[in-house]
Amino acid sequence: MLGSLWLASASNYALWEEIHQLPEVNGLRGLAFTVGFGIIITAALTTLLSFLNWGKLLKPVLTVFFFSAASGAYFMMSYGIVIDSTMITNVIQTDTKEALDLLNWRMLISFGILGVLPSWVLWKTPVKSLRWGQQVIGNIIMAVVSMAVLVGALLAVFQDFSSIMRNHTQLRYLINPLNSYYAIGMVAAKPFQRDNKTLLPLGQDAKLAAAKPNDKPPMLLLVLGETARMGNFGVNGYDRNTTPELAKENIVSLRGVMSCGTSTATSVPCMFSHLGKEAFESRKNNYESLIDVFSHAGLAVLWIDNQSGCKGVCERVPQVLTKELKHPTLCRGGECFDEIMLDQLDERIQALPAERRAKGVVIVMHQMGSHGPAYYKRVPDKFKQFQPECKSNALQECTREQVVNSFDNTILYTDHFLGQAIQWLKKSDNTHATAMLYVSDHGESLGENNIYLHGLPYRVAPDVQKRVPWISWWSANFEKQTGIQSACLKKKVNTPLTHDNYFHSALGLMGISTEVYQAQLDVHADCRNKS
Ligand SMILES: [Zn+2]
Repeated sequence: MLGSLWLASASNYALWEEIHQLPEVNGLRGLAFTVGFGIIITAALTTLLSFLNWGKLLKPVLTVFFFSAASGAYFMMSYGIVIDSTMITNVIQTDTKEALDLLNWRMLISFGILGVLPSWVLWKTPVKSLRWGQQVIGNIIMAVVSMAVLVGALLAVFQDFSSIMRNHTQLRYLINPLNSYYAIGMVAAKPFQRDNKTLLPLGQDAKLAAAKPNDKPPMLLLVLGETARMGNFGVNGYDRNTTPELAKENIVSLRGVMSCGTSTATSVPCMFSHLGKEAFESRKNNYESLIDVFSHAGLAVLWIDNQSGCKGVCERVPQVLTKELKHPTLCRGGECFDEIMLDQLDERIQALPAERRAKGVVIVMHQMGSHGPAYYKRVPDKFKQFQPECKSNALQECTREQVVNSFDNTILYTDHFLGQAIQWLKKSDNTHATAMLYVSDHGESLGENNIYLHGLPYRVAPDVQKRVPWISWWSANFEKQTGIQSACLKKKVNTPLTHDNYFHSALGLMGISTEVYQAQLDVHADCRNKS
C-alpha cells in the first residue's frame, strides 16, 4: 500500500501538475476531486499489486513498478509527452543511438529519486513470508478492500471525474505507470487483431506510360523528411530566412498538408501505404508499399537511409544504410550528416540493374533532418547560423529562444541538403527527366505550452506536430515530358491536403497506371497538360 501511495503521488507528478492547471479544478471542490482521483489511482495500483503479491515475488515486482514509473515520469515531465501505444511502438523501434541521445543528468536524478530511493527502502524492509493458504486469503481481502475503496472514491467524485476525463482525454495517458502497462498490452494485442505473417501484394499490374521517341527515362528523388515543421520554412512565410537555397529554385511549396501520425513509426508506413490514414489504422492485413509498386512497374529503386531504417516499407528493394559508412568529414561517431546520402550517388545508381534503369529511377532519401532532442548534432558548424543554440539534449535546460535557434539551424541545413540534391538532379538532367518531392513525416513542438518533441496522440497533438512541408521541384525537361505544370501546382499552395495524397501523387509524378492509383488523391492529376 505504501508502494502504491508513492507511485500515485510522487511518480505521478506530471499528472498532478496537469490537473492543477485545469481551470475547472479550483477551490474546495477541486481539492476534493484531486484527493478522490489520488485515492482511485492508489486503490487501482493496490488491487493490481494484490494479484502479484506472492512471497519473494513482491519486491522485484514493485521494483519494476518504481523504475517504469520513474522513466515514464521523467519523459512526461521533461518533454510534455504522454504515454500511449504509439509512444510504446516508438520506444520499441528506437535504436541505441537515438536512446543514447536522450541520456542526461536530469534523467539520472529522476531515476535516483523515483526509482532507486523507494527500491532501496523496499529491499531494506523485511517481509514475513506466509503459507500459501494465508497468502491467498490475504491477497483476496486486499483486492476486495482496495476495489471497494476505488468504487467508493469514484462514486464520491463521479460527476467531476466523468466530465474532466471526457474533456481532457490526455489525462488518461498520464496515469503512471498504468499508462505504460496499458499501452504495452495494446501493442502486444495488435498482432492478434491483424494478420502480420502474410504480406498482401499491391499494384502488381503497375505500368509506366509508353515513352515517346525522344523521351529520357524519368528520375524521381523522394526525400523523406524528419521532424520538419512546416511553419519554420522561410519559403512558407516564416519570418526567418531558413531556406535561402530553396528560395533560389523554381520550387512549389504546399502549406496545407497534414501528417498521418505524429511520429516516424506511425507516419512513414502510412505515407507509403495506398490505404490512407483511416483505413491504414484499422487495416486487417499488411500490404506492400509504394516502393513495391515502383518496383512492379519495372523501375530501378534505391532506398538510402540516414536514420533508423524504413519501418518495413523498403525491404524488397536495394538499401544503403549510412551508419555502415565511414566518411572523413560527413560522419562522426557512427552518425552522418544528411549530405552523406548524396555521396557516391552516381556509382550507387550505376549498380542497379541496367534494364530497370533504362525505364526510370526512383531514389528515396530518408533524412536525419531535425530529429530531436539533440538538434545541435544534426548540423555541421557552418550551418549553425542562429545563435545561441541549445547544446543539451535536456531541452528544458535551455531557453525557448535557444531551442528554436537550434531547430531552425536544422531547417537551414535541410535547405542546403535539398539545394544540393537539386543541383545533382540538374546535372543528371542530360540523361534523365528529373524531379524531386520532399515531404516530412511529422512536425515538432518547440516548447509551446511546455510541450517538446512530438508523438502526442493525434487527437490531442497540437497542429505544429501535424503540419508538414511538401516541396516539389522538377526540371523543364520533366515538365515537357510529363505535361505536369508547376504553374498550376503553385495555385494549390494553401489547398488542404494530407499524407493520404502522397502515395497517389508520387505514382502520378512517374506516370504509373495501376488499379490502386486514385487520380482524385493525386495533387498533380488536374495539373497535367492533356495535349
Ligand atoms: Zn519522425
